[in-house]
Amino acid sequence: MFQHRFRVYDREGVRCPTRGCKGTIKAIVQNARSTYYCPVCQR
Ligand SMILES: [Zn+2]
Repeated sequence: MFQHRFRVYDREGVRCPTRGCKGTIKAIVQNARSTYYCPVCQR
């Protein structure tokens, strides 16, 4: 559980890898699964 949370925070807050996008990766939980997406380019 702790490790899972750590992994979530490891990605959350990272700059979006899409070139030219200044969005920040967000982590959400859907159907008990963590999903990461960029609110700017929706990826
Ligand atoms: Zn993006």
